[in-house]
Amino acid sequence: MKEIIYLEIPTPDTARVRDWLQNSFEPGTCDKILTSDGIRLKSSDTTSVVSAITEKLPNELSVFVWNVQRTTYLKVFRWGEKFSQEIQILRKLTDEVRDRFPHNYPEPPVIDLSKQSIFAALAAHYPLTVKYFQKMPNGEYDLNRAYWWEQRWREGVRNPQQPKQVIFSHHEAATSGFPLSSSSYDLIYIGGALGVIHAALMAKLGYKVLLVERLPFGKMNREWNISRSEIQNLVNLGLLTAAEVESIIAREYKDGFNKFFDAYIPNQLKSPILHTPTVLNIALDSEKLLTLCGEKLRSAGGEIWDETEFIKADIDASQVVLTLKDLSSQSQHLVSGRLLVDAMGTASPIAWQLNPKRAFDSVCPTVGAVVESGFEPEVWDSQYGDVLNSHGDISRGRQLIWELFPGENKELTIYLFHYHQVNPENPGSLMEMYEDFFHILPEYRRCDMDKLVWKNLRLDIYQDISVLVVAIVLLL
Ligand SMILES: Cc1cc2nc3c(=O)[nH]c(=O)nc-3n(C[C@H](O)[C@H](O)[C@H](O)COP(=O)(O)OP(=O)(O)OC[C@H]3O[C@@H](n4cnc5c(N)ncnc54)[C@H](O)[C@@H]3O)c2cc1C
Repeated sequence: MKEIIYLEIPTPDTARVRDWLQNSFEPGTCDKILTSDGIRLKSSDTTSVVSAITEKLPNELSVFVWNVQRTTYLKVFRWGEKFSQEIQILRKLTDEVRDRFPHNYPEPPVIDLSKQSIFAALAAHYPLTVKYFQKMPNGEYDLNRAYWWEQRWREGVRNPQQPKQVIFSHHEAATSGFPLSSSSYDLIYIGGALGVIHAALMAKLGYKVLLVERLPFGKMNREWNISRSEIQNLVNLGLLTAAEVESIIAREYKDGFNKFFDAYIPNQLKSPILHTPTVLNIALDSEKLLTLCGEKLRSAGGEIWDETEFIKADIDASQVVLTLKDLSSQSQHLVSGRLLVDAMGTASPIAWQLNPKRAFDSVCPTVGAVVESGFEPEVWDSQYGDVLNSHGDISRGRQLIWELFPGENKELTIYLFHYHQVNPENPGSLMEMYEDFFHILPEYRRCDMDKLVWKNLRLDIYQDISVLVVAIVLLL
């Protein structure tokens, strides 16, 4: 028996493919026999029967389909040595499959939330996403966020905008005509995630520091895994004590696993599980880390203005003047400093303005959730992390990859992502990814979806390749 074809058919509707095979596909001169998962093709040609009979094998091709990762796979096996018209049959099968089931990239529907809730509006399109978001704290808010994020993302990919100018250079003093806030700073950090770590250290070194963050400080919902050797740098630099580092570790793993799906590749290309015991082996309590660094910043004389948004920066020969918006009062403030540090992450408008021609060409759409409990104890040992894991082949044009990091108590943080080349025909879809996530999580790790207790969800579009620069420093 020999496998003679293996195809991915980019549709989650495997029943439709089976139905087409059984009722529409015309294999030519041979007989078609229906089976539970496809068809058998029986040759009426007697010339190849000899070898089949010698081995007591039927003179047949077996064609069957199955579903993994919300897509369909098809294989054809030949029982005997030869099958009459095999090449023609396989070519016809492949051409017709490609024609009948092409790649398609569904778009979220246009919705009108004045008439219905987001759950009602999306239930028919993303049934499992709606079902499980309804079980999450803030599910309605988060589903809205995911939907509108995707709409903005699609619009941006299809109609790329010129970056908005947010940095202005002046020969004259930038302050002329501006009512400035009284104090001036050595360093102004915009962005209070990784920014606060750097800011706290510089404040300890004696600089006068201001940190600006759009969200309530410390509540930015980050899940940070790190290697022990990396976090040790914060001790070596004198920012944290060894005891403080221990207090922000939610979980330390003995090992982390990396394994890509290789069931259908030749043996010599298969590789064993890669063990990375010292990589990302510490799950941090990010809120505690941010709060601790915030306290250090303040106790060294620094200030944090949170719920404050960066609007623009005017730079002259001696200083930078920032226009900031206090989001609670909606009022604008001006503040000056000697150095502006952009820590706004990959969505930074400064990075965008400074790199207009190097806009990202590849992204990592990432979805996932923190599961508080509900997996059976034997499913995952919390002393281990799954750094990178794929449980299936390419599906609908993507190689899906899982990450799983245990946190405090029974918590498991689980992500699903893929690398994606930005393309107006196929901008990628977070909503489809969520539907994938909720469908195929039980394929990846055994669970009863209805017993899982969801803590919160994760979503992001990592911008990859050219905009990996996280902090741009405007040196005066
Ligand atoms: C799902 C997921 C899992 C991840 N897991 C890991 C991991 O395990 N380990 C790891 O090392 N990394 C991980 N990362 C990557 C890591 O989160 C980022 O690399 C890191 O957060 C980047 O930090 P940052 O401070 O540069 O940017 P961000 O974390 O994006 O922070 C930028 C900050 O700037 C603020 N900001 C933005 N615009 C403005 C504005 N106009 N005005 C004021 N403030 C503004 C934002 O509110 C935000 O707080 C993960 C990312 C995601 C999305």
